[in-house]
Amino acid sequence: MKWSYRIARFAGIDVRIHVTFLLLPAYFGFLGWQEAGLTGALNELSFIGALFLCVLLHEFGHALAGRHYGIRTPDITLLPIGGVARMESIPEKPSMELFIAVAGPAVNVAIAIVLAAILTLTGGILEGPDSTLRIQLHNLLVVNCGLVLFNMIPAFPMDGGRVLRALLAMKFSHLMATRVAARTGQVIACGFAVLGFFANPMLVLIALFVFNGAQEELQYAIQRQQYEELLQEMARRRDPFGI
Ligand SMILES: [Zn+2]
Repeated sequence: MKWSYRIARFAGIDVRIHVTFLLLPAYFGFLGWQEAGLTGALNELSFIGALFLCVLLHEFGHALAGRHYGIRTPDITLLPIGGVARMESIPEKPSMELFIAVAGPAVNVAIAIVLAAILTLTGGILEGPDSTLRIQLHNLLVVNCGLVLFNMIPAFPMDGGRVLRALLAMKFSHLMATRVAARTGQVIACGFAVLGFFANPMLVLIALFVFNGAQEELQYAIQRQQYEELLQEMARRRDPFGI
């Protein structure tokens, strides 16, 4: 991805950061500073840091699930709207796609459970007038639940959309499943755009990302179908009597 830089490498996967991502800590750091000076800025920055660590772990969930099926992920890039794990190929079987798609949100479910356990077990310790840590952990728990719900919206190529395609592909052809999932994703993307226009501009960016992503994936599925038909045609010509 252009304008992205490697910041770390874990389990053989490069973690990259897109320059636009830096707008996020800058913006929230500034908001925190305006509200409560240096402490406010540090609180906001630590929360954004923890949030994107959760996003990163989500992407590692996809990447490691892909590795289970021999699909390599050279890198994960952090963007202001979330993370993107770039896999070298798409899973062949619908069951593989289903497993890989669910693995990301499953990581956030696990994080939410751990956070809930920490908050419950340390209730007395973290309570008190200076309970910023408790508030942040609570907010992080809420955000992780939000990430699970948002990612499971069937807006292909988001995780929920991939689950939808995988389920459809168990019954219909890969192309038909992709077509239905992509069009569903694009309708939802239009909803995101309208909602984002009134509520949150970030949602408009996500809408664009989903709409274009769905179109590209559909185009890829069409090309794949044409390629497979060509191979079949060539095989038939080589063997005109079907022996
Ligand atoms: Zn995901």
